[in-house]
Amino acid sequence: MAWNVFKFCTGLRVVGSVMILVVLAVVSVSYYAVVISNYGPQLLKGGSETVVAAFVLIVFHALLVMLLWCYFAVVVTDPGGVPQGWKPEADDEDLEAQTMPLSASTVAGLNSGALQSPRIRYCRKCCQYKPPRCHHCSVCKCILKMDHHCVWVVNCVGARNYKAFLLFLFYTFLETTLVALSLLPHFIAFFSDVEDNASTPGSLATTFLGFVLDLAFALSVLGFLIMHVSLVSGNTTTIEAYEKKASTRWQYDLGRWRNFEQVFGTRRSHWLLPTYAEEDVRRMPSLRGLDYPVRAGIEGSEI
Ligand SMILES: [Zn+2]
Ligand SMILES: [Zn+2]
Repeated sequence: MAWNVFKFCTGLRVVGSVMILVVLAVVSVSYYAVVISNYGPQLLKGGSETVVAAFVLIVFHALLVMLLWCYFAVVVTDPGGVPQGWKPEADDEDLEAQTMPLSASTVAGLNSGALQSPRIRYCRKCCQYKPPRCHHCSVCKCILKMDHHCVWVVNCVGARNYKAFLLFLFYTFLETTLVALSLLPHFIAFFSDVEDNASTPGSLATTFLGFVLDLAFALSVLGFLIMHVSLVSGNTTTIEAYEKKASTRWQYDLGRWRNFEQVFGTRRSHWLLPTYAEEDVRRMPSLRGLDYPVRAGIEGSEI
Protein backbone atom coordinates (compact mmCIF):
# COMPACT_ATOMS: atom_id res chain seq x y z
CA MET A 1 0.00 0.00 0.00
CA ALA A 2 1.65 3.25 -1.06
CA TRP A 3 -0.64 5.57 0.86
CA ASN A 4 1.11 6.50 4.10
CA VAL A 5 -1.75 8.24 5.86
CA PHE A 6 -0.34 8.31 9.39
CA LYS A 7 2.82 10.16 8.31
CA PHE A 8 0.57 12.72 6.66
CA CYS A 9 -1.46 13.08 9.88
CA THR A 10 1.63 13.33 12.08
CA GLY A 11 2.99 16.06 9.86
CA LEU A 12 -0.17 18.07 10.41
CA ARG A 13 -0.29 17.72 14.20
CA VAL A 14 0.83 21.33 14.68
CA VAL A 15 -2.63 22.35 13.56
CA GLY A 16 -3.91 20.87 16.86
CA SER A 17 -7.35 21.61 18.24
CA VAL A 18 -8.18 24.02 15.42
CA MET A 19 -9.25 20.93 13.46
CA ILE A 20 -12.24 20.45 15.79
CA LEU A 21 -13.36 23.96 14.84
CA VAL A 22 -12.82 23.13 11.15
CA VAL A 23 -15.05 20.04 11.50
CA LEU A 24 -17.72 22.06 13.30
CA ALA A 25 -17.49 24.81 10.63
CA VAL A 26 -18.06 22.26 7.83
CA VAL A 27 -21.03 20.84 9.79
CA SER A 28 -22.43 24.37 10.27
CA VAL A 29 -22.14 25.29 6.58
CA SER A 30 -23.83 22.00 5.62
CA TYR A 31 -26.57 22.53 8.20
CA TYR A 32 -27.26 26.07 7.00
CA ALA A 33 -27.31 25.01 3.33
CA VAL A 34 -29.58 21.99 3.80
CA VAL A 35 -31.90 22.96 6.66
CA ILE A 36 -32.08 26.76 6.72
CA SER A 37 -31.64 27.66 3.05
CA ASN A 38 -33.26 24.82 1.11
CA TYR A 39 -35.16 21.93 2.70
CA GLY A 40 -36.58 23.79 5.73
CA PRO A 41 -38.48 26.28 3.50
CA GLN A 42 -39.40 23.45 1.06
CA LEU A 43 -41.13 21.63 3.92
CA LEU A 44 -43.90 24.28 3.82
CA LYS A 45 -44.58 24.03 0.07
CA GLY A 46 -46.96 21.03 0.32
CA GLY A 47 -47.39 17.94 -1.86
CA SER A 48 -44.45 15.82 -2.96
CA GLU A 49 -42.00 18.62 -2.20
CA THR A 50 -42.95 18.42 1.47
CA VAL A 51 -42.49 14.63 1.48
CA VAL A 52 -39.02 14.89 -0.11
CA ALA A 53 -38.02 17.69 2.28
CA ALA A 54 -39.22 15.72 5.32
CA PHE A 55 -37.25 12.65 4.18
CA VAL A 56 -34.04 14.65 3.60
CA LEU A 57 -34.36 16.50 6.93
CA ILE A 58 -35.05 13.35 9.00
CA VAL A 59 -32.14 11.38 7.48
CA PHE A 60 -29.84 14.44 7.68
CA HIS A 61 -30.51 14.96 11.40
CA ALA A 62 -30.26 11.24 12.25
CA LEU A 63 -26.88 10.94 10.49
CA LEU A 64 -25.69 14.20 12.07
CA VAL A 65 -26.40 12.92 15.58
CA MET A 66 -24.51 9.66 14.89
CA LEU A 67 -21.64 11.49 13.18
CA LEU A 68 -21.14 13.93 16.09
CA TRP A 69 -21.52 11.14 18.69
CA CYS A 70 -18.84 9.04 16.99
CA TYR A 71 -16.59 12.06 16.37
CA PHE A 72 -16.54 13.20 19.99
CA ALA A 73 -16.24 9.58 21.13
CA VAL A 74 -12.95 9.37 19.19
CA VAL A 75 -11.82 12.76 20.50
CA VAL A 76 -12.47 12.12 24.22
CA THR A 77 -11.88 8.34 24.50
CA ASP A 78 -8.48 7.27 25.77
CA PRO A 79 -7.10 5.33 22.77
CA GLY A 80 -5.34 2.97 25.21
CA GLY A 81 -2.36 3.91 27.35
CA VAL A 82 -0.14 1.14 28.75
CA PRO A 83 -0.99 0.44 32.43
CA GLN A 84 1.86 1.49 34.73
CA GLY A 85 4.20 -1.37 35.54
CA TRP A 86 2.78 -3.63 32.83
CA LYS A 87 5.02 -6.50 31.80
CA PRO A 88 4.43 -9.48 29.53
CA GLU A 89 2.93 -12.34 31.60
CA ALA A 90 4.10 -15.23 29.49
CA ASP A 91 7.66 -14.07 29.65
CA ASP A 92 8.08 -13.71 33.40
CA GLU A 93 11.02 -16.09 33.49
CA ASP A 94 12.68 -14.44 30.55
CA LEU A 95 12.10 -11.07 32.10
CA GLU A 96 13.49 -12.18 35.43
CA ALA A 97 16.56 -13.60 33.78
CA GLN A 98 17.11 -10.45 31.85
CA THR A 99 16.09 -7.77 34.28
CA MET A 100 17.04 -9.24 37.71
CA PRO A 101 19.26 -7.88 38.95
CA LEU A 102 19.01 -4.71 36.92
CA SER A 103 22.69 -4.53 36.18
CA ALA A 104 24.20 -1.75 34.13
CA SER A 105 24.52 -4.10 31.16
CA THR A 106 20.83 -5.12 31.39
CA VAL A 107 19.71 -1.53 31.53
CA ALA A 108 21.91 -0.82 28.54
CA GLY A 109 20.28 -3.80 26.79
CA LEU A 110 16.81 -2.47 27.57
CA ASN A 111 17.72 0.99 26.42
CA SER A 112 19.03 -0.26 23.13
CA GLY A 113 15.95 -2.45 22.70
CA ALA A 114 18.29 -5.42 22.21
CA LEU A 115 16.64 -7.96 24.51
CA GLN A 116 17.28 -11.63 23.85
CA SER A 117 13.67 -12.71 23.32
CA PRO A 118 12.00 -11.29 20.21
CA ARG A 119 8.68 -11.37 22.11
CA ILE A 120 9.79 -8.80 24.66
CA ARG A 121 9.41 -5.26 23.42
CA TYR A 122 10.54 -2.23 25.35
CA CYS A 123 9.96 1.48 24.71
CA ARG A 124 13.09 3.49 25.42
CA LYS A 125 11.18 6.77 25.39
CA CYS A 126 8.49 5.69 27.92
CA CYS A 127 10.89 3.35 29.84
CA GLN A 128 8.31 0.56 29.93
CA TYR A 129 7.51 -2.77 28.29
CA LYS A 130 5.29 -2.65 25.23
CA PRO A 131 2.28 -5.01 25.03
CA PRO A 132 1.65 -6.77 21.71
CA ARG A 133 0.64 -4.41 18.88
CA CYS A 134 1.50 -1.36 21.00
CA HIS A 135 3.35 1.50 19.29
CA HIS A 136 4.88 4.72 20.48
CA CYS A 137 3.27 7.98 19.32
CA SER A 138 5.44 11.09 19.51
CA VAL A 139 2.42 13.04 20.82
CA CYS A 140 0.53 10.53 23.02
CA LYS A 141 3.37 8.15 24.15
CA CYS A 142 2.84 4.37 23.93
CA ILE A 143 -0.67 3.50 22.64
CA LEU A 144 -2.25 0.02 22.59
CA LYS A 145 -2.88 -1.23 19.04
CA MET A 146 -2.05 2.22 17.72
CA ASP A 147 -3.46 2.81 14.26
CA HIS A 148 -2.31 6.37 13.62
CA HIS A 149 -2.28 9.79 15.24
CA CYS A 150 -4.79 11.99 13.46
CA VAL A 151 -5.24 15.73 13.74
CA TRP A 152 -8.89 15.53 12.66
CA VAL A 153 -9.69 14.02 16.07
CA VAL A 154 -6.71 15.60 17.94
CA ASN A 155 -5.97 12.17 19.36
CA CYS A 156 -4.37 8.86 18.62
CA VAL A 157 -6.60 6.21 17.08
CA GLY A 158 -5.90 3.03 19.07
CA ALA A 159 -7.43 -0.12 20.55
CA ARG A 160 -10.23 1.63 22.45
CA ASN A 161 -11.42 4.26 19.96
CA TYR A 162 -10.76 2.56 16.61
CA LYS A 163 -14.37 1.36 16.30
CA ALA A 164 -15.67 4.90 16.96
CA PHE A 165 -13.21 6.22 14.36
CA LEU A 166 -14.45 3.74 11.73
CA LEU A 167 -18.08 4.60 12.49
CA PHE A 168 -17.19 8.30 12.28
CA LEU A 169 -15.82 7.67 8.76
CA PHE A 170 -18.91 5.64 7.88
CA TYR A 171 -21.46 8.23 9.05
CA THR A 172 -19.41 11.09 7.60
CA PHE A 173 -19.45 9.38 4.20
CA LEU A 174 -23.24 8.86 4.35
CA GLU A 175 -23.92 12.40 5.58
CA THR A 176 -21.65 14.18 3.10
CA THR A 177 -23.05 12.08 0.24
CA LEU A 178 -26.62 12.96 1.30
CA VAL A 179 -25.76 16.67 1.51
CA ALA A 180 -23.99 16.68 -1.87
CA LEU A 181 -26.88 14.84 -3.58
CA SER A 182 -29.60 16.95 -1.95
CA LEU A 183 -27.83 20.21 -2.83
CA LEU A 184 -27.04 19.10 -6.41
CA PRO A 185 -30.32 20.44 -7.95
CA HIS A 186 -29.83 23.74 -6.12
CA PHE A 187 -26.17 23.82 -7.18
CA ILE A 188 -27.21 23.35 -10.84
CA ALA A 189 -29.86 26.07 -10.45
CA PHE A 190 -27.09 28.36 -9.18
CA PHE A 191 -25.52 28.28 -12.67
CA SER A 192 -28.78 28.41 -14.61
CA ASP A 193 -30.65 31.58 -15.54
CA VAL A 194 -33.69 30.60 -13.49
CA GLU A 195 -34.79 33.51 -11.35
CA ASP A 196 -35.36 32.53 -7.73
CA ASN A 197 -36.51 35.51 -5.77
CA ALA A 198 -36.60 33.53 -2.53
CA SER A 199 -32.83 33.00 -2.53
CA THR A 200 -30.69 35.52 -0.73
CA PRO A 201 -26.99 35.99 -1.60
CA GLY A 202 -26.14 34.33 1.74
CA SER A 203 -28.16 31.18 1.05
CA LEU A 204 -26.80 30.95 -2.52
CA ALA A 205 -23.23 31.20 -1.19
CA THR A 206 -23.72 28.54 1.52
CA THR A 207 -25.50 26.24 -0.95
CA PHE A 208 -22.55 26.55 -3.33
CA LEU A 209 -19.96 26.14 -0.54
CA GLY A 210 -21.86 23.28 1.16
CA PHE A 211 -22.10 21.31 -2.11
CA VAL A 212 -18.41 21.71 -2.97
CA LEU A 213 -17.18 20.96 0.59
CA ASP A 214 -19.40 17.92 1.13
CA LEU A 215 -18.63 16.46 -2.28
CA ALA A 216 -14.89 16.80 -1.57
CA PHE A 217 -15.28 15.18 1.88
CA ALA A 218 -17.47 12.37 0.53
CA LEU A 219 -14.85 11.41 -2.06
CA SER A 220 -11.85 11.61 0.29
CA VAL A 221 -13.60 9.80 3.17
CA LEU A 222 -14.60 7.06 0.71
CA GLY A 223 -10.88 6.49 0.09
CA PHE A 224 -10.20 6.16 3.85
CA LEU A 225 -13.21 3.86 4.28
CA ILE A 226 -12.08 1.49 1.54
CA MET A 227 -8.58 1.40 3.05
CA HIS A 228 -9.89 0.65 6.56
CA VAL A 229 -12.34 -2.02 5.34
CA SER A 230 -9.32 -3.79 3.87
CA LEU A 231 -7.33 -3.30 7.12
CA VAL A 232 -10.16 -4.59 9.37
CA SER A 233 -10.75 -7.62 7.14
CA GLY A 234 -7.08 -8.55 7.62
CA ASN A 235 -7.00 -7.55 11.35
CA THR A 236 -4.20 -5.09 10.68
CA THR A 237 -3.58 -1.53 11.84
CA THR A 238 -2.35 1.20 9.50
CA ILE A 239 1.10 1.00 11.12
CA GLU A 240 1.23 -2.80 10.89
CA ALA A 241 0.23 -2.64 7.22
CA TYR A 242 3.51 -0.82 6.56
CA GLU A 243 5.61 -2.96 8.88
CA LYS A 244 4.57 -6.52 8.17
CA LYS A 245 5.98 -8.52 5.35
CA ALA A 246 3.37 -9.19 2.67
CA SER A 247 4.78 -12.67 1.99
CA THR A 248 3.88 -14.16 5.41
CA ARG A 249 0.32 -14.66 6.63
CA TRP A 250 -0.43 -12.25 9.46
CA GLN A 251 -0.50 -13.94 12.88
CA TYR A 252 -3.59 -11.96 14.03
CA ASP A 253 -5.59 -12.82 10.89
CA LEU A 254 -8.38 -15.01 12.32
CA GLY A 255 -10.54 -14.98 9.20
CA ARG A 256 -12.69 -12.06 8.03
CA TRP A 257 -15.65 -12.62 10.31
CA ARG A 258 -13.65 -12.98 13.53
CA ASN A 259 -11.40 -10.08 12.47
CA PHE A 260 -14.53 -7.92 12.19
CA GLU A 261 -15.64 -9.01 15.68
CA GLN A 262 -12.22 -8.13 17.11
CA VAL A 263 -13.02 -4.48 16.31
CA PHE A 264 -16.82 -4.25 16.37
CA GLY A 265 -17.66 -6.84 19.05
CA THR A 266 -20.08 -9.74 18.74
CA ARG A 267 -23.36 -7.95 19.58
CA ARG A 268 -25.24 -6.82 16.45
CA SER A 269 -27.16 -4.24 18.47
CA HIS A 270 -23.84 -2.41 19.12
CA TRP A 271 -22.25 -2.64 15.68
CA LEU A 272 -23.43 0.78 14.55
CA LEU A 273 -22.81 2.48 17.91
CA PRO A 274 -19.43 3.75 19.20
CA THR A 275 -19.77 1.56 22.32
CA TYR A 276 -19.42 -2.12 23.27
CA ALA A 277 -21.73 -4.48 25.14
CA GLU A 278 -20.37 -5.03 28.68
CA GLU A 279 -20.23 -8.76 28.09
CA ASP A 280 -18.02 -8.27 25.01
CA VAL A 281 -15.60 -6.05 26.93
CA ARG A 282 -15.43 -8.67 29.70
CA ARG A 283 -14.74 -11.68 27.52
CA MET A 284 -12.84 -10.18 24.55
CA PRO A 285 -9.31 -9.17 25.60
CA SER A 286 -8.70 -7.45 22.26
CA LEU A 287 -11.29 -4.78 23.17
CA ARG A 288 -9.22 -3.91 26.26
CA GLY A 289 -6.11 -3.69 24.10
CA LEU A 290 -3.51 -5.72 26.05
CA ASP A 291 -3.88 -9.19 24.60
CA TYR A 292 -4.84 -10.47 21.15
CA PRO A 293 -5.74 -13.96 19.96
CA VAL A 294 -3.47 -15.32 17.26
CA ARG A 295 -4.52 -17.79 14.61
CA ALA A 296 -4.16 -21.51 15.30
CA GLY A 297 -0.69 -22.96 14.98
CA ILE A 298 1.07 -19.64 15.61
CA GLU A 299 2.87 -18.83 18.83
CA GLY A 300 2.73 -15.20 19.85
CA SER A 301 5.59 -13.33 18.36
CA GLU A 302 6.07 -9.70 17.66
CA ILE A 303 6.94 -7.75 14.59
ZN1 LIG B 1 6.56 4.75 24.30
ZN1 LIG C 1 -0.92 10.08 19.18
